[in-house]
Amino acid sequence: MKYYGKPTIEKIEHRLCKYIRCDSCNKKIIDEEKYFEVTTGHHDWGNDSCESIEHKDICENCLDKYVGNYFKETKDSYTAYIEVESEMFYKNHKYYGNYDECEDRLVEDDLESKGE
Ligand SMILES: [Zn+2]
Repeated sequence: MKYYGKPTIEKIEHRLCKYIRCDSCNKKIIDEEKYFEVTTGHHDWGNDSCESIEHKDICENCLDKYVGNYFKETKDSYTAYIEVESEMFYKNHKYYGNYDECEDRLVEDDLESKGE
């Protein structure tokens, strides 16, 4: 990605997260435990299709039941969908590990634009 314009660096605060919970059985999902990010919704006619989108965290034990039940509950809909992504929960989000790198790049671009 190329960055243009004057960057503003915003401070990002991280939530120190010890666990998340399965939205089906309420079990704790702990560090490096596998779970599933599930998105459900439908494309039925009307304004409510975007409001129908829901995001859930579901543990391995509940997944089969959750998916099966979803289509039972929505059997009258022809457009109901469910997207499942397997994920690993990382305590305190090691995810943003390369944030410092990103910040360096923003500063460099700012110096370049001053030379114009
Ligand atoms: Zn569960």
